[in-house]
Amino acid sequence: MTDLAPSADRPAELPDLPDLPAGLLDRAAALDAADPLARYRDLFAPSEGLIAYLDGNSLGRPLTATRERLASFVDGPWAARLIRSWDEGWMDAPTELGDTLGRVALGAAAGQTVVADSTTVLLYKLARAAVDARPGRRVIVADTENFPTDRFVLQGIAAERGLELRWITPDAESGVTPEEVAAAVGPDTALVLLSHVAYKSGYIADLPAITRIVHDAGALVLWDLCHSAGSVPLDLDADGVDIAVGCTYKYLNGGPGSPAFAYLAAGLQDEVRQPVQGWMGAADPFAMGPDYEPAAGIRQLISGTPPVIGMLPMRDMLALISEAGMPAVRAKSQALTGFAIEVVDEYLAGVRVASPRDPERRGSHVMLDHPDFKRVVAEAWARGVVPDFRPPQGLRVGLSPLSTSFTEVANGLWVIRDLLG
Ligand SMILES: *Cc1c(COP(=O)(O)O)cnc(C)c1O
Repeated sequence: MTDLAPSADRPAELPDLPDLPAGLLDRAAALDAADPLARYRDLFAPSEGLIAYLDGNSLGRPLTATRERLASFVDGPWAARLIRSWDEGWMDAPTELGDTLGRVALGAAAGQTVVADSTTVLLYKLARAAVDARPGRRVIVADTENFPTDRFVLQGIAAERGLELRWITPDAESGVTPEEVAAAVGPDTALVLLSHVAYKSGYIADLPAITRIVHDAGALVLWDLCHSAGSVPLDLDADGVDIAVGCTYKYLNGGPGSPAFAYLAAGLQDEVRQPVQGWMGAADPFAMGPDYEPAAGIRQLISGTPPVIGMLPMRDMLALISEAGMPAVRAKSQALTGFAIEVVDEYLAGVRVASPRDPERRGSHVMLDHPDFKRVVAEAWARGVVPDFRPPQGLRVGLSPLSTSFTEVANGLWVIRDLLG
């Protein structure tokens, strides 16, 4: 169980900004008072001078508990036990933590999720494995609005394997539809790679419908869950997903560069071979044998020595999410993004909402659009309001449900309004 008593160094109360209308403050305060998850906010480490953190979708805030976890790791498993710790938990950490992550955030039964590498590297390993598992099919389907690394990795694989990339060009303010996927796939298609939640618009793709369409074409689907894991409930097993990868430093608060995760459905684990054959993913790493023989099950996705330290912080966040429950996390996420849109509509003249207004199709961030946002984001950071900028003129408001209050959203957007002049 998590200790929900406020930490000794809980963040200072948010300042009331001078000209914030009473109606807006009261509305935010009422939402905070009615928020069943409000108390979780006190469990995050304070941040000096922060008025509003609007980028929890890019780098989640650290939990106070993580400080103690890291310190006791140095003194305990590392300093006291040294190399013996590999036999006392470190070797199994990628799959043991993967199982926890699968259960808490992915809807994945044990034995199908591993924590390793970075998202970019796992995308490469799994996309390469997928196209090799569909020999004779020469097309990879992806979309032009996906995150750069996803597109770049596929460009590399297409060149390496002599395959064709077929691009879907979705509406930039929503995302890839089932109809667009149906029109793009066929008997020539090996793999479809899409993001579940679009990193710019926040649009939630229809994962169950698209997965069925891809399967009907005989292809494999790889879902990028970077902006879903920890904010939008997933049901990978029930939806028949083949492969998924995602980040742990966004809504799972694993810290900068924390390792990524990969899901590979049990039914594919004998069929799919990843290309980075390393000793730690071999059947018997310490046999030091002459030839590579992959480990059974999900362990085969491991290449090198597991990043044990990088796996520590996300454990604290997974414990909180497990306790709160993904449905409650999702409900708060929808309420936060809905409130942000309400404030923009009412008070931020000239700013356009470039995200879905339907809460069922919206992830946990809202993209706003205005020609001055490049300047505004730089100035906002200096004032303790931290969204991020996405070219050409987007300001992204990422609202991590357990660490963000409604008052914080009101204050942050008010500073942005002020900076727009
Ligand atoms: C954040 C993000 C990544 C990041 O990949 P890294 O290898 O961790 O840098 C990849 N894909 C998507 C869709 C993302 O949102």
